[in-house]
Amino acid sequence: MIYFVAFLGLVFGSFLNVLIYRLPNNKSIVRPASHCPNCQHKLAWYDNIPVVSYLLLGGKCRYCKKTISPRYLMVELINGGLWALSYSVFGFNGLMVLACVFISVCLVITFIDLEHMIIPDSMNIGILVVGIVLIFLPNRLGNPSLSITWQDQVIGFGFGIGFLLLMALIEKVFQKEVMGGGDLKMIAAVGLFLGWQLTILGIMLASIIGSLIEIILRIASLRAKNEPLPFGPYLVIGFLTSLFVGIDLINWYLNLFKF
Ligand SMILES: [Zn+2]
Repeated sequence: MIYFVAFLGLVFGSFLNVLIYRLPNNKSIVRPASHCPNCQHKLAWYDNIPVVSYLLLGGKCRYCKKTISPRYLMVELINGGLWALSYSVFGFNGLMVLACVFISVCLVITFIDLEHMIIPDSMNIGILVVGIVLIFLPNRLGNPSLSITWQDQVIGFGFGIGFLLLMALIEKVFQKEVMGGGDLKMIAAVGLFLGWQLTILGIMLASIIGSLIEIILRIASLRAKNEPLPFGPYLVIGFLTSLFVGIDLINWYLNLFKF
């Protein structure tokens, strides 16, 4: 079963590549049929087999021999891997399906934000929908020691909206953008899915991981001083970590204070 879920993840990953390529450019995601971004040659079905085609073609277009971005392979592999992880953590149920959709939307956000510094509203709406569906599912995130109730989800959404308004106020007062609007909308949407506990943990993890990586990038001179940094990918890392091991992290942290 886990191989089946992973395989579906790979196939779906191909579609995510289409979204990542077409969403920011306002291109239709269904038409025209997939083609090489360089020579525009229409791709045959055998050029579109996830992972296999990329490896067989040596990462080059069959027609113009131009190198295909390794991103295509990466997105498919990461999506397949995380879908399999989702199956092993949640089992085969509605919660797993929602987690898989959430993971895929997060991947699209990551790669679009890295390239274009934007998070499309459509992707944040996708997260919102996943959160709304979870409210009505019998499955809950978490375990008996800490189960995320639908009330936690609603509070998480309220927290996100409050955070968004607070940042808007700060920006108005100081006339300086603190965090991108897309990031803030994403936090609100994720709040409704993960609940307030896992959302706050995710933001904390994102800040810690983001600061560490940015410091390393600066030291290695890979990022200029005033270059704007995309926070979306770090939020995604934080939220996905929170989704999979957040409850354990929170329990571990709380146990530190138990004597
Ligand atoms: Zn080509």
